[in-house]
Amino acid sequence: MSFNQLGLRAELLEAVAAKGYTEPSQIQAKAIPPILDGRDLLGGAQTGTGKTAAFTLPLLQLLAEQRPAPSDSNRNGKRRRHLPRALIITPTRELAAQIGESVVNYGKGLELSSTVIFGGVGINPQISRLRRGVDILIATPGRLLDHAGQGTVDLSQIEILVLDEADRMLDMGFIHDIRKILKLLPGRRQNLLFSATYSDEIKKLSEGILHDPVFVEVARRNTAAEKVEQVVHPVAKVEKRFLLAHLIRDREWNQVLVFNRTKHGSNRLAKQLDSDGISATAIHGNKSQGARTKALADFKSGRVRVLVATDVASRGIDINRLPHVVNFDLPNVPEDYVHRIGRTGRAGEEGAAHSLVSADERGLLRDIERLLKRSIPVEDIEGFQMNEADVNAAAEKKRNGRGGGGRRSGDGGYSSRRSSGGGGGGRSSSGRRRNSSRRRSSGNRSAA
Ligand code: AMP
Repeated sequence: MSFNQLGLRAELLEAVAAKGYTEPSQIQAKAIPPILDGRDLLGGAQTGTGKTAAFTLPLLQLLAEQRPAPSDSNRNGKRRRHLPRALIITPTRELAAQIGESVVNYGKGLELSSTVIFGGVGINPQISRLRRGVDILIATPGRLLDHAGQGTVDLSQIEILVLDEADRMLDMGFIHDIRKILKLLPGRRQNLLFSATYSDEIKKLSEGILHDPVFVEVARRNTAAEKVEQVVHPVAKVEKRFLLAHLIRDREWNQVLVFNRTKHGSNRLAKQLDSDGISATAIHGNKSQGARTKALADFKSGRVRVLVATDVASRGIDINRLPHVVNFDLPNVPEDYVHRIGRTGRAGEEGAAHSLVSADERGLLRDIERLLKRSIPVEDIEGFQMNEADVNAAAEKKRNGRGGGGRRSGDGGYSSRRSSGGGGGGRSSSGRRRNSSRRRSSGNRSAA
């Protein structure tokens, strides 16, 4: 399958070629033709599948080919008021900004204008931009409603609505905002809804919005990106930061996205890594937009080695060939694990996701494995133990001059069979031992 077979205009094909894409991704091949036919669409696609282009390319084409609504044109067909004709709603600022960039990139050869509006930055420049008129509006729900409330945006001419990462928007509590926004749109429009997962809530939402939709799905329901190698490292909670520093140094990871459940934890971890000599920065909802943009830019350019992010902040982070994702802790919601590891192995690239799992997180791990319908291989890193009790026992042994090494916890079957020696020995700056590791399957354990 080539892009030429999808019915896209020359300008769009040129833009795609300029990006270096040689063939459409699965979601693009499946979604572009029905969208061009004017159909509503329910897209089951995770981030990293190329879904942004799957809706952006046909959206640009439809807008370029369809004349604006008559109420919006004068007798010569020239537009009187330049009201937005397409609305793309996304859960986070980062995602909005990235979609905005894609719209500009893919739409280079077309005379369509766009703007991105989200909170956390001044509203006045957005108001003046909207006043000048745009064809495509990319927005987060809250700020869009602020504009609607102030009368600075008019959504009455929207021809195409895209709800991107709809599952995430529901998770983030945007459902009421979305319902309010829907009331501001004209009844006749084309609707595209993308979601990585299908909960009953998503089904309900899509049934209320979509008319006779085409359903396209790429990754199997709730499956993690297949190219991502996943591994669990058992470790005591107190040792996680040392294990992380050890892995980064020992394996020479130069670009690592680390997930942390809390904003405070993200800040603390970034500071700790920095003080351990590993450059790191944090990104989360409490940071100003400027600080978030800078953190992301520093990480993308390689100026900082580690980006520590909360789940919400990580949505929409799109970094080509991001090689390593680390779950410093496991997410409470198993689906978030899928979103997290989707940050690596994007667009068919290889990637690896490492989860640092402490004893109290075994239940969360089981939930994730149940969702994935597979167990995640376990790799013990020598010198690191899963339980606090083991850590204390090892320290005790060391104090008594009996050395560390293999131990048994008797806790839930996490029996550790470690190989010793080799593996780049010595000590890290934190005083941890650097040793080799071995892998085993977590299969029998996950059933426990
Ligand atoms: P998305 O799922 O939209 O976030 O896209 C994930 C990544 O895949 C982005 O970096 C895109 O630039 C890239 N991408 C999108 N379509 C293609 C394609 N057909 N071939 C190669 N890369 C692509």
